[in-house]
Amino acid sequence: MARILITSALPYINGIKHLGNLAGSMLPADVYARFKRLQGHEVLYICATDEHGTPAELAAQKDDVPVQAYCDEQHEIQRAAGEGFTLSYDHFGRSSSSQNAALTQHFAHVLEERGLLEERTEKQVYSIDDGRFLPDRYVEGTCPHCDFEKARGDQCDNCGRLLDPVELKNPYSAVSGSTNIEIRDTTHLYLLQSKMQDDIREWVEASTEWPQLAKSIALKWLDEGLQDRAITRDLSWGIPVAYEGKVREGFEDKVFYVWFDAPIEYIGATQEYSEKLGKPEEWERWWRTDKGADDVTYVQFMGKDNVAFHTVSFPVTMIGSREPWKLVDRLKAFNWVTWYGGKFSTSMNRGVFMDQALELLPADYWRWYLMANAPEGSDAAFTWEGFQAAVNSDLANVLGNFVNRITKYCKSKFDGQLPAAGAPGEDEAWMEAELKTRLKTLMQHYEEMEFRKAAAETRAIWAAGNEYLTRAEPWVKYKNDVDAAAVGVRTGLNLVALFGILAQPFIPTAAAKILDALGIPEENRKMPNPDDENLLDALPHGMEISPPDVLFSKIEDAQVAEWTERFGGGQ
Ligand SMILES: [Zn+2]
Repeated sequence: MARILITSALPYINGIKHLGNLAGSMLPADVYARFKRLQGHEVLYICATDEHGTPAELAAQKDDVPVQAYCDEQHEIQRAAGEGFTLSYDHFGRSSSSQNAALTQHFAHVLEERGLLEERTEKQVYSIDDGRFLPDRYVEGTCPHCDFEKARGDQCDNCGRLLDPVELKNPYSAVSGSTNIEIRDTTHLYLLQSKMQDDIREWVEASTEWPQLAKSIALKWLDEGLQDRAITRDLSWGIPVAYEGKVREGFEDKVFYVWFDAPIEYIGATQEYSEKLGKPEEWERWWRTDKGADDVTYVQFMGKDNVAFHTVSFPVTMIGSREPWKLVDRLKAFNWVTWYGGKFSTSMNRGVFMDQALELLPADYWRWYLMANAPEGSDAAFTWEGFQAAVNSDLANVLGNFVNRITKYCKSKFDGQLPAAGAPGEDEAWMEAELKTRLKTLMQHYEEMEFRKAAAETRAIWAAGNEYLTRAEPWVKYKNDVDAAAVGVRTGLNLVALFGILAQPFIPTAAAKILDALGIPEENRKMPNPDDENLLDALPHGMEISPPDVLFSKIEDAQVAEWTERFGGGQ
């Protein structure tokens, strides 16, 4: 039994996430966590909301609520959406937790002891009317590159360039609109990433289980040279620049910058989880290699824009501390899910968001389509037509009909008892050979975290079951040879159980419905081993089964038309 720590990139607190965000880290991490648990491994799957920074402060201000209350409410919305999509987090934490604050302050303290922090004084935009500095998005103005008049302090939405707020032409406060602005000196803590260049390169080059893309992104950053970065900001919402309760002199009105504290929340959330369990030291065996984490495999899931951050920036903090922290072993990065090739946008009525999706159909429908079309090799477009085709064909026809047909037939002809009579023949030998080959391939796709391929192989196994029934024809044989029909029904019911077991990572709710209908006990729902001898005769003869209710309803053209009207489509 292995121990596997899984994290998915933290969703930002501001606003409900769309289906593309779900498909690009949280959902595949969940599928992988479920798969590993079903292999019998010890898994810890951690995620959290990323709550600090200017967007949260500004959104709270716009709603006229305190930022803490705003984050409380938004966290609950995201937690509920995750639960609705049956994301099996062991813990869904908050980067604003006291655990994360203490850890962040600890890291800053040891980094300073190692000579990796220093105070630097820089120019910053100051609003005289607001009586405060205006970092990042608190200041807007004209882009110095493209003359766009509503560029934000940290980035221009028109040309996409990253900006320093002091570069803006005609700056004004995003808080009050005031143009009564001046440039003042302010002092911040800088993390001396440049000093860690060689250590990080050595570590990146030694990684053996990263995909090529991740490694090349990290090396590109290293080739360009790591820049020293400010890890504090002139804000009030965030983690105080303090250590052991004592605020750093001159930093009374400053906090740690969100990019510094957010990834530390992977550890912070594990501490939150430990305390919830009533075992406050439990987190150490996942994160401290001197306390048992040396045998943990740590797997991170993220969008491609987050790779440099996870392979370079966060490791500077971890490795720079010279403490025995567990570092990432494997990582999986995704491209984007697009809405018909374009961006999701609430204001432009383009795309479905997590809460809306669940009002239309149960989570399994979305989970299946998003993973069967995972944005792995390239971006993947969500289309209503593709969604409808996948649900109707894969789920309703190939899986749903199979389960329905064979369980109902058993009920009507064999009193709902798994028949014992008859001996397997050619058709069963074909099915078994097919199954062994395909199961091996499926397990390999999962191990390689190739989710699109794993979904395709799962579907291929369901399709092979349908072909088996076409060959075996128990309903035809029943007329002349009840024993021959019994073999077909027995094999078919064993396939139903296997299909349910294999479906668990992707469509857990429907899978549970299938397995419950067959009365498969929890301990027998583990992933099968392709080398198992009696894959097609594992269920006890004579066991009672009952047909499940309809597993999936087909999506009608009228529904597609209605949803296209409401959420946008291809036109
Ligand atoms: Zn611009």
